[in-house]
Amino acid sequence: MALIVQKYGGTSVGSPDRIKNLARRVARFKALGHQIVVVVSAMSGETNRLINLAKEIMPEPDPRELDVMVATGEQVTIGLTSMALMELGLKAKSYTGAQVRIVTDNAHTKARILSIDEERIRADLNAGYVVVVAGFQGVDESGNITTLGRGGSDTTGVALAAALKADECQIYTDVDGVYTTDPRVVPEACRLKSITFEEMLELASQGSKVLQIRSVEFAGKYKVKLRVLSSFEEDGEGTLITFEDSENKDSNMEQPIISGIAFNRDEAKVMVLGVPDKPGIAYQILGPVADAKIDVDMIIQNMGADGTTDFTFTVHKNDMTKALGILNQVQGHIGAREIRGDDKIAKVSIVGVGMRSHVGIASQMFRTLAEEGINIQMISTSEIKIAVVIDEKYMELAVRVLHKAFELEEA
Ligand code: ADP
Ligand code: ASP
Ligand code: MG
Repeated sequence: MALIVQKYGGTSVGSPDRIKNLARRVARFKALGHQIVVVVSAMSGETNRLINLAKEIMPEPDPRELDVMVATGEQVTIGLTSMALMELGLKAKSYTGAQVRIVTDNAHTKARILSIDEERIRADLNAGYVVVVAGFQGVDESGNITTLGRGGSDTTGVALAAALKADECQIYTDVDGVYTTDPRVVPEACRLKSITFEEMLELASQGSKVLQIRSVEFAGKYKVKLRVLSSFEEDGEGTLITFEDSENKDSNMEQPIISGIAFNRDEAKVMVLGVPDKPGIAYQILGPVADAKIDVDMIIQNMGADGTTDFTFTVHKNDMTKALGILNQVQGHIGAREIRGDDKIAKVSIVGVGMRSHVGIASQMFRTLAEEGINIQMISTSEIKIAVVIDEKYMELAVRVLHKAFELEEA
């Protein structure tokens, strides 16, 4: 007997038939004697619908109130899922995040889980119930409803698996595993049988939305056995996230140098041009941005010949206007000639632990892009990743040519 947490994403609960299908799968696992916790997302499209509804009333929705209403999407699906399980003769009980007591910090719309009270779930499991928990939501210490950021149901699933010391966390979605890149962009993409935790973390952080990055962080921290699977197939091994030490992987001749390609259209570039090149300038620019709780991703600074420097960084598209507003206020103080934003950019990243033991990967990437006439605006690297910022309109082309150049079709 195993304790398994199964998380089902929006498409997998997108209609009554799909919820019934999910219930039949849970029933099959129950019949094998397993204890099952189900975590569900809102029905596909529902979270977007709710956010848009809020914006019709308040263009920049109040974060606390937005969380109150957006969390309802998952409250609908937990009830429906429990009912579908009952219809199959199973004992089932649903809980919102607040009812479980998934306690988070108070950063509305992007809250972090602080603790989970798993006693009640454990008692229900021992009493033979399938426990159905709303993904994406929690409650802060003052009792306010919070949400965990887009894609946050993955994190609820993995965090519950960690708290319950589950034997496995299964993420059921609309693809049958983690691919070399998004199969919607590159139809030749291949499913990976396994991927190292480090690579998955990089892919998620660079924009592969198949798993929310925080879910991967949780899996790493608590060594949760994590698998991504299709909810539309009866069986299939999906993709296992492995924790084997990557040094061993490096010595494996079969190990590809690049495991996957991620891309992200959600960033915007902010340029602070012609600032005097003197100590403290980076802090004067980024300090006020950080104070406004705006996350900065890539940063570059170019020296000009005239003793001034150009400072460029990327933020989430949603934060660009706010960042520009802040910088316009301090422009006089920092002595910048011009402040400009560009939200027509995309970031494309190649990821692989094999990069550690191979040279020339960056030049191969840059050559491939150059051959297509794609200009690179920014570059950032880590031990297992090379990311470039390019014009948004070349994003899909870049992903396709890199996928081919690194021979990922045969992964
Ligand atoms: P869910 O609603 O089940 O959480 P998501 O839409 O959040 O599903 O995530 C699944 C989607 O992630 C896939 O449909 C696919 O388009 C996208 N995706 C992006 N990168 C990858 C990748 N490397 N492998 C598989 N899917 C990916
Ligand atoms: N429903 C939420 C979203 O659309 C959470 C999730 O699906 O994981 O982002
Ligand atoms: Mg998702």
